[in-house]
Amino acid sequence: MGALPTSATVAVIGAGTMGAGIAQVAAQAGHPVLLYDAAAGAAERGVQGILRTLGKLVDKGRLGADALADIRGRLRAAATLEELAPAGLVIEAIVENLDVKRELFARLEALVAADAILATNTSSISVTAIAAKLGRPGRLAGMHFFNPAPLMKLVEVVSGLATSAEVAARVHATCEAWGKAPVHAKSTPGFIVNRVARPYYAEGLRLLGEGAADVATLDALLREAGGFRMGPFELMDLIGHDVNFAVTSSVFAAYFNDPRFTPSLIQQELVAAGYLGRKSGRGFYDYA
Ligand code: NAD
Repeated sequence: MGALPTSATVAVIGAGTMGAGIAQVAAQAGHPVLLYDAAAGAAERGVQGILRTLGKLVDKGRLGADALADIRGRLRAAATLEELAPAGLVIEAIVENLDVKRELFARLEALVAADAILATNTSSISVTAIAAKLGRPGRLAGMHFFNPAPLMKLVEVVSGLATSAEVAARVHATCEAWGKAPVHAKSTPGFIVNRVARPYYAEGLRLLGEGAADVATLDALLREAGGFRMGPFELMDLIGHDVNFAVTSSVFAAYFNDPRFTPSLIQQELVAAGYLGRKSGRGFYDYA
């Protein structure tokens, strides 16, 4: 099955770190895009943020002014969920919580066309479980982008037990048409990348807890000697501690409390304090 035609509307739900980036990708690929967020004003701020980012690309000569004008005409903030009814593909990027995601998809299923594809950007929750309550669970797949979505090529296309082969193929082809490098994955806890990445964060946090070195030293060491693009602490600050902690907790629970995936008390405290990383201005580092 081929890619979604560019004439099809893409709706993105959640205008946070990931949703705004995904909306930018879909808009740059030529689709009409609707961005929705439950928090008042967040979708409009998301749209303005995307246009600012694209404006900088125009200044650097990496995007034509006419292309930006086109995108401006196709990218819109939606004030209500009902406005997303015409979407051919809906990508959810809201809070990492199974019940909240299920409730959203139940509302969406009643709104969109029978052949519309529903996709979740979940990092760790079972795609099978998210789809299970739908009337047509076959139409839901994971479409797991990485942060920052406009720059990172990889997308995990995740199939739950009920996901239809046609839907997975269409999501895969659509990612390719958007200039991404998709891989098919089955719905296992954390899928591939987030599963493999858990020990990177966990061991960094254990080293910090044991007083081995401070965060800046550990980050520099892993970046410069270890060859990682980012150290674990600057990476967790980029991801957001609320999101990273929720992902670890979800993988830990899904593997029946396997101690390898035990969430960190240090990170639990950061979340409790509201020190969520870059997005809140403070995490392991200060961004004020
Ligand atoms: P975020 O906190 O930056 O943004 C989430 C947005 O969703 C917020 O603006 C919030 O107002 C909105 N929201 C919450 N509940 C909602 C609802 N019921 N309806 C509509 N909007 C709602 O979070 P994020 O980092 O963008 O993560 C979103 C999803 O993407 C999560 O499932 C996360 O696991 C996944 N993810 C995150 C990253 C990352 O690096 N941050 C990477 C890949 C995937």
